[in-house]
Amino acid sequence: MNIYISCDMEGVDGIVTEKQSSPTGPFYEFAREQITGEVNAAAQGAFDAGASSVLVNDSHHDMTNLLPEKLDPRIEYITGSQKPLSMMQGVDTGIDGVFFIGYHARAGTWNSTIVHTFSGCVSQFKINGKVYGETGLNAMIAGYFGVPVVMISGDQHVAEEAREYLPWIRTATVKQGQSAYSARHLSVANARELIRKTAAEAVRIIPEACPYLPSAPYRLEVRYLQAGEADRASMMPGSMRLDGTTLAFDTNDYLQAWFAFYTMTALASQAPMV
Ligand SMILES: [Zn+2]
Repeated sequence: MNIYISCDMEGVDGIVTEKQSSPTGPFYEFAREQITGEVNAAAQGAFDAGASSVLVNDSHHDMTNLLPEKLDPRIEYITGSQKPLSMMQGVDTGIDGVFFIGYHARAGTWNSTIVHTFSGCVSQFKINGKVYGETGLNAMIAGYFGVPVVMISGDQHVAEEAREYLPWIRTATVKQGQSAYSARHLSVANARELIRKTAAEAVRIIPEACPYLPSAPYRLEVRYLQAGEADRASMMPGSMRLDGTTLAFDTNDYLQAWFAFYTMTALASQAPMV
């Protein structure tokens, strides 16, 4: 069994503020230790349950968060940004099951820490009328390549979000969100132990899990926070402006919907062009 881990940071135990999760924040080194520790715990559980390989894709911010010298030596890892599949780079390389570690709930979720969907300028992401966060968006990329998502760690809200459309998923709830910037946490040791155990269970349920991808055609709808962001995103060929802040894109291929979202959002986050 080849296991793939996409690791984000906002859902990691002990992380509640951008002072920890941003590379320029004063407490970022703590966050790097924590994400590396949780990835190691997930890999340990996977190997305990018989996984033959674990590939980790660093998926937060500029994607250079993991501390390589502290990673379990059995792990291979992908770092760096501008990867075509972004948080899912490498999922198309013969993977049997995906874990999401340190994931956070979608933009707008109440009482959940540092929520967003991919970029601070996105207020809502929909496929065929259903709202998803990064969990769904990335589960569908895995689904496109025929790979099921079997585990997620983070707070109670991201676990619930994942169960909406991945009912088999094994969840490690390492913290309970209390507000946008506070949570009640398990101890570091207990969070890692929960992740290790959950990862081992998740490997065992791979035969019952399904790749997740709604059937074509796809209508992508993205709502940005500001009309100016939507102005820039609307330069994407094939996009349709639905209102001041919302764009749509129609396609029969989910990977095209992903690239449309990625491109529009890259445009939206640029400084105003003159
Ligand atoms: Zn994220």
